[in-house]
Amino acid sequence: MKRAFQVLGLILLVNGSASGAPGQSSPYAAADIRNLYQELLGKINAIPLYDNHAHPGFADDTDVDAMAAPPEESSVLRLRDDNPEFVTAAKSLFAYPYDDFQPEHAKWLAERKNAAKKTGGSAYFDQILDKLNVETCLSNRAFMAPYLDGKRFHWVFFGDSFFFPFDNRDQAGSTPDMGVYIPLQEKMLARYRKLMGFDTLPADLAGYEAFVRNTMAENQKRGGVAVKYEAAYFRSLYFSDPPREKAEAIYAKYRAGGVPPADDYRVFQDYIFRLMVDQAGKLKLPMHFHTAVGIGDYFSLQQGRVLNLENVLRDPRYHGTIFVLVHGGWPYEREAALLTAVKNVYLDTSFQSELLYPSQFKDVLKQLLTLFPDKMMYGSDAFPFNDALGAEESFWLAAHTTRTALAAALAELVGEHAITRDKALELARLYLHDNASKLYGSGTGGAK
Ligand SMILES: [Zn+2]
Repeated sequence: MKRAFQVLGLILLVNGSASGAPGQSSPYAAADIRNLYQELLGKINAIPLYDNHAHPGFADDTDVDAMAAPPEESSVLRLRDDNPEFVTAAKSLFAYPYDDFQPEHAKWLAERKNAAKKTGGSAYFDQILDKLNVETCLSNRAFMAPYLDGKRFHWVFFGDSFFFPFDNRDQAGSTPDMGVYIPLQEKMLARYRKLMGFDTLPADLAGYEAFVRNTMAENQKRGGVAVKYEAAYFRSLYFSDPPREKAEAIYAKYRAGGVPPADDYRVFQDYIFRLMVDQAGKLKLPMHFHTAVGIGDYFSLQQGRVLNLENVLRDPRYHGTIFVLVHGGWPYEREAALLTAVKNVYLDTSFQSELLYPSQFKDVLKQLLTLFPDKMMYGSDAFPFNDALGAEESFWLAAHTTRTALAAALAELVGEHAITRDKALELARLYLHDNASKLYGSGTGGAK
């Protein structure tokens, strides 16, 4: 009788039983999915993170981004400062003695960060990375700060300001948000100009082209490992391919003054964008794009949609340029994932790792892991929210969400016999660390 059951069991396995046989996937996970999760989580916690995208720094450091928050912003539920997870983060990182962020309690945290800032050394943010087992953090900032250790924090500079050399009053006046964003782009362009020794704009397009190319090369020498575009906040991510003569005529007409009509300005930007794609390819400098919903009432989901970039990403002329779809296109993350089929296109899951709860992010990762797992990278999008809640807690939230969601996604895939345990851990290492480390190198900034 016992033997008969064994034979029956064998037949069920061969045909694919409810729990699935090794090498044959099943829609249902094995019963021990929670054990699998715990086992994988332990191993995943030990893998150091390579953070593809963050804005590290103290709250009063205006260089943490080239942009600022719009005048009015609707914060999603999880990123409001009454999210109890931030209390857990502060307890974990600083032994925060309170259970909420009542103003008199939050003061404790703000004072602690103020004290760290006053010391001026780079040990403080290194310790934050150590506590979270983060090895390297790409730092998307206007410029780097002396309190960030160049060995761990590598600079990703901004390229958008080159889009705005002319009189920008029409764009700045188009929405209240653009009224905040555009003057900051003008300021960034003025800083680059000063850096490169220009009092005014170069006399002709050839001069402006050289200024753009040389600034990119110079920033790379100063430690830049990639160039980032927040273009989706300002315009469509669709870039046409205008001839140089058109851009030359527009530059000649508006260099010294006058407000360009919207169509002319866009043509000029499209031309300069393609020049930067070409230069990034020559410099072997990856290009980062904000590809996700953005903050503020006026961010256009349609214009910022990742598929707008498809004509550029699939253009054979640009196969030498590395493109990274920062924030993984969310909420169009499947479109972004499918674009990483192109050999020089990558994505990161920054911002999703803070916006989505682990149960939601698990499903995103489960899909990504089974498409192009050698093209996906961890990212936090850590950012200082205010004096008390800083990039520190933000780093914690992204790391926690990602590690737990990844362990759950992999536990399901192993439990369903889609992949083995060994394969699961190999995929975890690729995503959390190795893909990025291979792409940028693991030396100090600019070592690529
Ligand atoms: Zn960001």
